[in-house]
Amino acid sequence: MKAYPPSIANLIQAFSKFPGIGPRSAERMVFYLLKSEPQESHRMADLIVRVKEHTFFCSQCFNLSEAKLCHICTDENRNPEELLVVEDPKDVIAFEKAGTFRGYYHVLLGSLSPQEGIGPDEIRLKELLQRVDKGTIKEVILGTSARSEGEATVLYISELMKNRPVTVTRIARGVSVGHTLEFTDQATLARALEGRHAVKS
Ligand SMILES: [Zn+2]
Repeated sequence: MKAYPPSIANLIQAFSKFPGIGPRSAERMVFYLLKSEPQESHRMADLIVRVKEHTFFCSQCFNLSEAKLCHICTDENRNPEELLVVEDPKDVIAFEKAGTFRGYYHVLLGSLSPQEGIGPDEIRLKELLQRVDKGTIKEVILGTSARSEGEATVLYISELMKNRPVTVTRIARGVSVGHTLEFTDQATLARALEGRHAVKS
């Protein structure tokens, strides 16, 4: 990379920071920009700035949103008695693509991981409890991953719900072993949701 002028070398280095993008891909991205029309790089730069300035976490469910409440939380045609708990906004997108869930979501923005020092206060559990304690929700569906962190999160939430008047179910296992939900195909995800079982009634 030393052979490149600084403006190119710096951009290659910047693109290399994206997940899954190595120096060679970063190099190809820079050359794509060099070959394209000037307005193309302006457009890209604008989009990058925009995504940070205009995207927030929904104040209710912590899904990504351009407004205080996301498009799912403001959709009144959904079932307020069902709440699907996931780890990441990407999981909401996966379930929405599967298309069978008609309740609301709660995004934890992580999962419990004692090894990594992620405890209950680091993820959106307090906010989950506040929503459940409003009394409308009848079923909390755990759509967390089957990784050990997801497992710890399931146990913790089941414990939290113990004396609360809600059913806690969990999506069928086997769908996300070794994978995050985003890589699970839509039909499998729909089946996993359909095949959910009670962990606390
Ligand atoms: Zn929301």
